[in-house]
Amino acid sequence: MGDWKLPLSAACMCGRVKMRITVVPIISMACHCTGCQKLTSGAYSLSLMISAAGFEVEGATEIGGLHRDESVHHFCAHCKNWLYTSGIAGGQFINFRPTMLDDASWFIPLIESYVSEKLPGVQTGAKHSFERFPDPSQYPALMAEFAKEGARPA
Ligand SMILES: [Zn+2]
Ligand SMILES: [Zn+2]
Repeated sequence: MGDWKLPLSAACMCGRVKMRITVVPIISMACHCTGCQKLTSGAYSLSLMISAAGFEVEGATEIGGLHRDESVHHFCAHCKNWLYTSGIAGGQFINFRPTMLDDASWFIPLIESYVSEKLPGVQTGAKHSFERFPDPSQYPALMAEFAKEGARPA
């Protein structure tokens, strides 16, 4: 796998919110939990975890979802797309929804969480599956694997 071609550009469906990723992402994930099913109106959510310092937003967003201090769900104020989640690890990280990328055609999650709540017949292509979330002790090895061979733009 080659180096990341940065920045990555993204926008919501209506184009009023534009986003840019200027740092190499940390890990890619799919989550099958029932909360993500409701947030996406789909079978699962996709996330690209990035450092909050390498994420830029232009345009009006509003808070939706559960309105919690941890895991703050940001939506476009106009088209209501679910764009990203902030507040992770005290605001250090953003879980960005990679389906907002101008080109998401390369995206494959490395891990998938909450397969205990997965809808029947759903497949994500993730290499590692977890009943709930990985144990915190498993993240360093997963992040190292993502850095080495995680899917990235061609
Ligand atoms: Zn979830
Ligand atoms: Zn929008």
